[in-house]
Amino acid sequence: MNRYDAIVIGGGPAGITAALYLLRFQVKVAVVEKLAPGGQVLRTHLVENYPGFPQPVEGWKLADIFAEHLKPYHYDTYNDEVSRIEVGKEMHRLKIGDTWVEARTIIVCTGAVYKELGLPGEKELSGKGVSYCATCDGNFFRDQVVAVIGGGNTALEESLYLARLVKKLYLLHRRDDFRGHKCFQNRCEVNPVITIRRSTLAKRILGDDKVTGIEIENIKTGEKEHLSVDGVFVFVGYDPHGDFYPPEIQLDERGFIITDAEMRTSVPGIFAAGDIRSKLCRQITTAVGDGATAANAAHAYMEEKGFI
Ligand SMILES: Cc1cc2nc3c(=O)[nH]c(=O)nc-3n(C[C@H](O)[C@H](O)[C@H](O)COP(=O)(O)OP(=O)(O)OC[C@H]3O[C@@H](n4cnc5c(N)ncnc54)[C@H](O)[C@@H]3O)c2cc1C
Repeated sequence: MNRYDAIVIGGGPAGITAALYLLRFQVKVAVVEKLAPGGQVLRTHLVENYPGFPQPVEGWKLADIFAEHLKPYHYDTYNDEVSRIEVGKEMHRLKIGDTWVEARTIIVCTGAVYKELGLPGEKELSGKGVSYCATCDGNFFRDQVVAVIGGGNTALEESLYLARLVKKLYLLHRRDDFRGHKCFQNRCEVNPVITIRRSTLAKRILGDDKVTGIEIENIKTGEKEHLSVDGVFVFVGYDPHGDFYPPEIQLDERGFIITDAEMRTSVPGIFAAGDIRSKLCRQITTAVGDGATAANAAHAYMEEKGFI
């Protein structure tokens, strides 16, 4: 069985940073990524708020640059999924695909995934006009009409992106106030392509083989309306990635991993970083910061225990 000082689960910004710092400590590291390095950054059209890139940088490019940074170092990679962690006293065990490995420390950087709304028609029409990723699917709706559902930063940012492609965009939000940043809200409000419908519930997505419309209801007046749209983008939040966490790891009510300021979880030797953590701000900057902190804490833990 392969044994490591540290195993990083997830190759997004948090995982890549954690791995980079651990490798610079010259400990034996493995990185497990079930898809491709970059995580959610790969799904981001343009990143405008990552310091060092004053010009907007495309998500896939930034993901490539992140991955490039690990190239000079020697470490093991597993292109597979972690499905189980067994907590041990000095060594923890992980199941990666069909293989078991052991590690002194684990840094969980598994990120988060889009939440579904659970609307009638949503599942059936997913990939047939219902999308959770504007960058991936926006191009399919050039010069068409779409609805965006949500009120947070992602809904606002992605509406602004989609507004460059589509003919008309309805931004549907069930509340009066948006949760997203004011600067994005202001830009949506003045964008001629975007029509904002506040206090509006999406009730049902319509269509047989593809989306043809959406049924909405004004929650103040009870008035129902049918909007003809070609696509529906759902941006209503994230769910933590993975359900393989051992019961010893304390989670918040939404299933995100609770850590202290040093990224320590409730299990000695297991750390968490990035979007999988219970925290307020889920961004590339915060993921990177968490990754660096977790690697330092893991290193300190191994020194303190006399493992290295
Ligand atoms: C559409 C969109 C636009 C965004 N725009 C911005 C922006 O402009 N600026 C900004 O700062 N942030 C933006 N974000 C948020 C930012 O991308 C995330 O906060 C950041 O990527 C989180 O990094 P992470 O490493 O914690 O997780 P992730 O990026 O989610 O990476 C987690 C990785 O873990 C892997 N993984 C998960 N489970 C397992 C498992 N069991 N085994 C193996 N591998 C596993 C996943 O495949 C994934 O690659 C955006 C996000 C989205 C979705």
